[in-house]
Amino acid sequence: MIERDGFDDDIYEVSCDYCSEDIEIDSGGDWQDMINEIKEDGWLIGKINNEWKHMCPECKKNRKQLK
Ligand SMILES: [Zn+2]
Repeated sequence: MIERDGFDDDIYEVSCDYCSEDIEIDSGGDWQDMINEIKEDGWLIGKINNEWKHMCPECKKNRKQLK
């Protein structure tokens, strides 16, 4: 799940939908920059049953795919 920080509009909070991992990305509030950054970090993002899912690099290592 990705949410804007409640206090600082420049920061997105990205949390893994498969564990409790979460990170903060300061991309100056730019959505695409933030997406590019987490993808470079190894996060997986995709749609499952019409719902966006976000998987951290650690879960990706163990599960290999979104489900
Ligand atoms: Zn995870």
